[in-house]
Amino acid sequence: MARYIFITGGVVSSLGKGLASAALGALLQARGFSVRLRKLDPYLNVDPGTMSPFEHGEVFVTDDGAETDLDLGHYERFTGVAARRTDSVSAGRIYSNVLEKERRGNYLGRTIQVIPHVTNEIKDFIAIGDDGADFMLCEIGGTVGDIEGLPFLEAIRQFARERPHGACIFIHLTLLPYLNASGELKTKPTQHSVKELQSIGIAPDVLVCRSEHHIPQKEREKLALFCNVRPDAVIAACDLPSIYDAPLAYHREGFDRAVLEAFGITPAPPPQLARWEDVSDRVHTPDGEVRVAIVGKYTRLEDAYKSIAEALAHGGIHSRVRVRGEWVDSEIFESEDPAAHLEGCNAILVPGGFGERGTEGMIKAAEFARKRSVPYLGICLGMQVAVIEVARNLAGIRDAGSEEFDHPAGVKRVTPVVYRLKEWMEGNRTIERAADADKGGTMRLGAYNATLRVSSRVADIYGSCAISERHRHRYEVDIRYRDKLEKCGLIFSGMSPDGRLPEIVELADHPWYVGVQFHPELKSKPFDPHPLFREFIKAAVEQSRLV
Ligand code: GLN
Repeated sequence: MARYIFITGGVVSSLGKGLASAALGALLQARGFSVRLRKLDPYLNVDPGTMSPFEHGEVFVTDDGAETDLDLGHYERFTGVAARRTDSVSAGRIYSNVLEKERRGNYLGRTIQVIPHVTNEIKDFIAIGDDGADFMLCEIGGTVGDIEGLPFLEAIRQFARERPHGACIFIHLTLLPYLNASGELKTKPTQHSVKELQSIGIAPDVLVCRSEHHIPQKEREKLALFCNVRPDAVIAACDLPSIYDAPLAYHREGFDRAVLEAFGITPAPPPQLARWEDVSDRVHTPDGEVRVAIVGKYTRLEDAYKSIAEALAHGGIHSRVRVRGEWVDSEIFESEDPAAHLEGCNAILVPGGFGERGTEGMIKAAEFARKRSVPYLGICLGMQVAVIEVARNLAGIRDAGSEEFDHPAGVKRVTPVVYRLKEWMEGNRTIERAADADKGGTMRLGAYNATLRVSSRVADIYGSCAISERHRHRYEVDIRYRDKLEKCGLIFSGMSPDGRLPEIVELADHPWYVGVQFHPELKSKPFDPHPLFREFIKAAVEQSRLV
């Protein structure tokens, strides 16, 4: 049976609980333990799939097709452990399960209440598949004191009570604000937050304190005394120049040792940190810089493209260059010349997105990359706009577009070289979607295989002709235009195994131009960059040498 580590947050939101959990996971792995990380979100959406990226940042997709919180991306990037559907749950999902059971009569006519019915549902979720890892790390979203979070805190309190003594510990992450006027770190908000937790019946074993300054011994002792933890279980988490410094920084502060001590695992097995030392070293001593323009729709909020930003950085870590991302809102290209914004860039990436807004600007960015021989990586919508651009400007289909850009009830305005998929194969199963299906969970989601053309650029990059990548989209490039587009130099070099769905296109006569229907960024790690990002950044480095 696994040991459980529950991570809660206090004082303010956005303290980097996900990152702290991910870094702790990496440190436990470095000491030879296996881990699985899980996120429990108290919001009422059933999953983040239908939430705007501006609300919630990126939707992270798992191999088994779940649309989850972006923290699962951090977990995977730091531990390399592929997340599953059962690693992310929201209050919306929990309540919807409970209500479904109530309708089915599973509760035998009883009154359904938060305790025990909702808390039982949460506990059942926490324990799914708990024999597969030495440690299960469960992060509770939100901040202690939120009304929505209460059933989750109550559930983890009960959970720890029901397990054998010493099988569960609690970590609380808080903020120590610094007062310039008095030159002091203030511990009172943390004391209050811990009191609130204690009133629910949870006593933290380890306190992780975000602060802009080193925590003086006096404050550490005060926190230990008032919050009822040992002084060496008060861990300082200072701001870091790179998130990839987190495992080493937390290790120096004794985080992993304090956690293992709380479980009574002493002496702790020695850690192997070479992987993180190498990553940190490469991040901090780059041999140059490349500029990559990311031309998309949700560029106001970097979290909306979190995994892309990280995957670009991973490519940079591999080539030992700093990657400077220039986030450009594609809409401005509808009125301004893209050259003014893109000329100084060494590569262009058009990421995924939904809806018509901004797509004409993305098409212009793809055209610029093609004509000026600038390395181009189009992801999902970024591949679709690349196909539309070539169809319009090289294949002579002047009104080429995507069905997604046609007004549902209006007259057809485009020749759809990209169309809405209604039926596809998942393994041996046929999946069908009605045109008027609900918005939630109606996409081609999760890992699908693709077959790459022998001796294509991508087969070379992957070093294989059989790949599996994660998908999240409703529309597909129409295979009926393949011959016409290939004659113009746009090669369909990756296809679904049944040969019906284009997965990758590449330009034959271009230094580096690749469009992919899937999301390679979701599988990239700092210590193992995704091959497409690794080679895309290499191409950007080449390009920077030419200018
Ligand atoms: N909107 C496009 C589709 O649904 C692209 C989706 C994406 O980029 N993730 O196919």
